[in-house]
Amino acid sequence: MFGATLPKPITTSQAMPEAPCHLHHDDDEDDGVNSASIMIMNNTRALEYIEEVTRNADEVQEKVLAEILSRSAHTEYLQRHGLDGFTDRSTFKKRIPVVTYEDLKPDIDRIANGDTSPILCSKPISEFLTSSGTSGGERKLMPSIEEELERRSLLYSLLMPVMDQYVPGLDKGKGMYFLFTKSEARTPGGLLARPVLTSYYKSKHFKHRKHDPYANYTSPNETILCHDSFQSMYSQLLCGLCQNEQVLRVGAVFASGFIRALKFLEHHFVSLCNDIRSGTLDNKISDPFVREAVMKVLKPNPTLADFVEGECLKGSWKGIIPRIWPNTKYVDVIVTGTMSQYIPVLDYYSNGLSIVCTMYASSECYFGLNLNPLCDPSEVSYTLIPTMAYFEFFPLHEINGHSTDSVSHEEKERLVDLADVKLGQEYELVVTTYAGLYRYRVGDILRVAGFRNNAPQFNFVCRKNVVLSIDSDKTDEVELQNAVNSGSDHLAEFGASLTEYTSYADTSTIPGHYVLYWEISTNNNNVETPIPSSVFSDCCFAIEQSLNSVYRQGRVSDSIGPLEIKVVENGTFDKLMDFALTQGASINQYKTPRCVKLRVSLLALPFLGHRCTPPSAPTIGFFFSPFPFLAIAVHLHQPQPSPPLAFHLHPSDLSHQTRYRNDPFPALHLQSITIPIPVFVWGFYVVQSRSGSETIECGVCQHLFPISKDCQKLEPSIGEQLTSLLYLEPDSELMVYLLLSTFCFCE
Ligand code: AMP
Repeated sequence: MFGATLPKPITTSQAMPEAPCHLHHDDDEDDGVNSASIMIMNNTRALEYIEEVTRNADEVQEKVLAEILSRSAHTEYLQRHGLDGFTDRSTFKKRIPVVTYEDLKPDIDRIANGDTSPILCSKPISEFLTSSGTSGGERKLMPSIEEELERRSLLYSLLMPVMDQYVPGLDKGKGMYFLFTKSEARTPGGLLARPVLTSYYKSKHFKHRKHDPYANYTSPNETILCHDSFQSMYSQLLCGLCQNEQVLRVGAVFASGFIRALKFLEHHFVSLCNDIRSGTLDNKISDPFVREAVMKVLKPNPTLADFVEGECLKGSWKGIIPRIWPNTKYVDVIVTGTMSQYIPVLDYYSNGLSIVCTMYASSECYFGLNLNPLCDPSEVSYTLIPTMAYFEFFPLHEINGHSTDSVSHEEKERLVDLADVKLGQEYELVVTTYAGLYRYRVGDILRVAGFRNNAPQFNFVCRKNVVLSIDSDKTDEVELQNAVNSGSDHLAEFGASLTEYTSYADTSTIPGHYVLYWEISTNNNNVETPIPSSVFSDCCFAIEQSLNSVYRQGRVSDSIGPLEIKVVENGTFDKLMDFALTQGASINQYKTPRCVKLRVSLLALPFLGHRCTPPSAPTIGFFFSPFPFLAIAVHLHQPQPSPPLAFHLHPSDLSHQTRYRNDPFPALHLQSITIPIPVFVWGFYVVQSRSGSETIECGVCQHLFPISKDCQKLEPSIGEQLTSLLYLEPDSELMVYLLLSTFCFCE
């Protein structure tokens, strides 16, 4: 997915339209003219390829399905469902069920546990891609095969030829993209489990890419491949600043990541400018590969340092992108779907430069690209490339203005093919991939916005069921409900209970955070016992504990801010209902919306009787999660002799740090705490050995047992493995460590 754009020769079956085989010129023979003509030829081939596959969309899809099914005819899955070697659409649709991740989980678990027989795919599963979608609170594991990397590269190779039609001359400068890799885990069977982009950036397709004027980035590979998020971000920004005049486009995968980089600049520009001024690299960057790579770019440049510092010190950061990178032509980030909430802040930082959403992809497979990249973000549509996978579409029917998937069994059997979707209709995307997913419901809702030749172009409408999202987290209504239930349990001892709630993803703060609006009733014989604010803090914490692992990891890595509860006046939700009724809602069907999407929202109106935003609604109290930046450092000197029944931590065992040193640390957690077993643990617990940053003592790790939800039941191991189980980047100073799970192990 996303960001990087690399032409790459592709080999596909003879039966398919031939993928554009890119020419590369030899660096030594770069005579400018040669290079330009090769680029033009490559661009032409790529555009011809798009024309061909979109013109023959249906035929290509038929061939793709036949190819997948004939290759995998002997897999256990297809045999189990009685496909009997058939490769035609009609038998496939009759015999193969439409499934979700939960249906496939037993098969996926077998592969993860080391069964190498052809269960889902005839080709060996080379790795699992960890999706940001969750199942039972855990990340989904998507099987992948070696050749998928080529398919991903193919999609990347189409991006710049498309872009070049609208913004020529991008080969004359560089792209400043903030791209990151994460630490990897291994399944018990030994397969790698990592995010799709980590897999791509670590592949030879990215690392050993041939010289290409479009794949010329300010970030050296080493800075992208560094797992330490601080070092990676710092060094990428530094290199981007050093080459500021050459930068023609800036971006990241999703808008949230790019905004994070600008926020980082705001916090660290003094140190970055010092490095530029002196031509030396801050000691915080300790990775020798990163240091070496950055030192090739970094030269003493006091003029540039003064310029950047001057811009950063000006009161306003409006237009900071074109101010510091004056030749920037556009911002390349995804702002469709939940990321649209970041458009205003991007407009502010970029002074209204075009925001370009280039592609639509996932861990399951890469889907398509935006053939009209300079369109307004609200009009972005993606053309699914028919060679990527076999696509089907589950029509959603409009009932009272709400899309629903409650369609009849027969309709489910007759999912619509790519070439048969109808303009304006909404569908859920279903894919059959080369890597062993058959009729798999991706969970994305798309709307047909138009056609390119015979291939439909889709607006991304939303993720099915997701009510809250800040970064890559996706919280659905059920998860939210369960989390709210466990949070509101804390009110009971005060004779209080939660009567109504709704939620809001507040991105006006950076990082954004979840806000819950709570209406509370007290019924303890009219004696009003005020509820201490610490209780609400406990509620916030309990809610965060209940949310899925992607949310919690976002909190640990600080891409999501602390959850907030706003207690609203009694009667607020009645007013909300009254308002909805005046707008035509049926009293029989009215349900409190569990999420308000817009800042100027339904909820805001009845609060004050005039238009205002939820954050300024008349709340009678607001409370944050009590551990906003808390890290508990546990100092263990001795290996524990045996797993204790309860783990008692005394203040002398604890030290506290905040990730943002300027933020005051809340003093309330200095008492000793006893952690019961079994315990539901999450990543706020940070271990740091007294001696330095190597963090984990083997004695502790020996007790690790694969019990944690976060750990996805991966094999016990030590040190680095432990962190990677959590899919967390080792932080610069602290290493988040699922310490307590080590003590959950009982015979
Ligand atoms: P993951 O499986 O973590 O790689 O996430 C893939 C999901 O991210 C997709 O199924 C979409 O829900 C979302 N996504 C990917 N690309 C886009 C896009 N261009 N616009 C909106 N959402 C996207």
